[in-house]
Amino acid sequence: MTLDEHAVQSYGQNTSVPSKTEILNVVGAQRVPGRRVFDKVNPVDGSVNVQVHEADQSVVDQAVSAARASLTSPWASMPVTTRAELLRRIADVIDERFEDLVAAEIADTGKPEKLVRELDVPRAAHNFRAFADIISTAGLDSFLTDLSDGSSALNYAVRKPLGVVAVIVPWNLPLLLLTWKLAPALACGNAVVVKPSEETPSTATLLAEIMTQAGLPEGVYNVVHGFGVDSAGEYLTTHPDVDGVTFTGESSTGSAIMRAVAPSVRPVSFELGGKNAALVFADCDLDKTIDGLTRSIFLNTGQVCLCTERVYIQRPIFETVVERLTQRARQLTLGNPMNPETTTGPLISQEHRKKVLSYFDLARSEGANTVVGGGIPQLGQDLERGAWVEPTLWTGLDNSSRVVREEIFGPAAALIPFDTEEEAIRMANDTKYGLAAAVWTTDLQRGHRVAQQMKVGMAWVNTWYLRDLRSPFGGVGLSGIGREGGMHSLHFYSEPTNVCVQL
Ligand code: NAD
Repeated sequence: MTLDEHAVQSYGQNTSVPSKTEILNVVGAQRVPGRRVFDKVNPVDGSVNVQVHEADQSVVDQAVSAARASLTSPWASMPVTTRAELLRRIADVIDERFEDLVAAEIADTGKPEKLVRELDVPRAAHNFRAFADIISTAGLDSFLTDLSDGSSALNYAVRKPLGVVAVIVPWNLPLLLLTWKLAPALACGNAVVVKPSEETPSTATLLAEIMTQAGLPEGVYNVVHGFGVDSAGEYLTTHPDVDGVTFTGESSTGSAIMRAVAPSVRPVSFELGGKNAALVFADCDLDKTIDGLTRSIFLNTGQVCLCTERVYIQRPIFETVVERLTQRARQLTLGNPMNPETTTGPLISQEHRKKVLSYFDLARSEGANTVVGGGIPQLGQDLERGAWVEPTLWTGLDNSSRVVREEIFGPAAALIPFDTEEEAIRMANDTKYGLAAAVWTTDLQRGHRVAQQMKVGMAWVNTWYLRDLRSPFGGVGLSGIGREGGMHSLHFYSEPTNVCVQL
């Protein structure tokens, strides 16, 4: 069997990912091997069932060329309504291949099956349907300009694709975050070269089959696998024929990519890290708040950029909230992702676990009281080699401690008391990040007042991670540059040309 056949067969319809899958790069209709392969380790138990072909410079060159070549007919001349229909067809094929995508996402990440079924895969289909609607209804700027001689001029902007867009995404919500960028990029008529995380190569590769099945023209969707520096990521961001870079990942990586694209001055959209705060007022609905906080601290093992890592709690209810959150953390069930009782999976890798555990140690040395967790859970022999950590909560940490200032990206949060609204706002805003915040209060005016003062891209009141895809998504400070979502995405993934006509 050739590598090509192997890669295609690996994801046969309605099969789970078999052992020893080889994952290849996707260049147009071809599956292209790299000169080197790397192991994809299953974070649940440390097993290696997947080998991934790393794209070298020549594979990246081929992928960018294939994307460039596809920017002609039929893709370039496809009317917006036909493109929107194609996006809906992609969503339909995602639904048809639901089981394959679920299996691939679990194999890469070890997420609980329930979470993948309820969040990751449905949201991928929703991303395409939402942007099919958005592009179908999006208007164009036009202005009638009065001139001093009594005549007028008509200004109108036409929307054109950016061209070849590099889409670089992380491992925490691999399919969801990729399709969040892909849907508007395709809606605007771009061609893409996708670089999924080295930790999660499967769903992006499977998506290539879905694109073909849905009828996307050849070369519009390409995938290169590998790492960042001296690998596919860097080859792509420094490639002279890439017209724009959309990136989700760590703030430090965003900074490196910004340096890489600076010489050729290309547009970037950055969705970066966070150190998100929850502000819990004494007048909150306690049951709802505890549910919301539990979700916002521990969802996806704390590996969501929007997760809460700092919880500021008004003093009269501090002890109660600590006690109830501790109980909820103890009730989380870690284990096999296919077990319906499992609420919490492993971290993505041993390397990431090392980082998270180093913050557990740092918290102790910074004087924290670990009220729950703080170590490695005992889950039995099968899972001993997995990347597991205990859900963890701390009290006693100062707002200036490193654990409260640096992104951990694990199932852990610091619980800190406050007395006044002003103090809570000051502490929540005392950070270089600025992605998201959540305010928990039954005082409607306070909810609006505090949310509006948060130095973040997204502030929630009495909820968390509730999204309308037409609304702006992104962060300030170290959390990103630009916004995506609705018209914000269309603005990034297209270039307007203004036409001015003397009437
Ligand atoms: P990462 O920055 O290490 O990697 C992200 C992607 O960039 C991967 O595909 C990686 O291979 C690639 N990459 C790494 N170095 C590169 C380089 N020099 N040039 C080009 N590409 C490079 O991030 P991660 O560890 O995969 O993901 C976790 C981070 O992502 C966290 O900081 C989290 O907060 C952030 N995140 C942000 C959002 C958001 O919307 N703001 C969403 C999810 C995750």
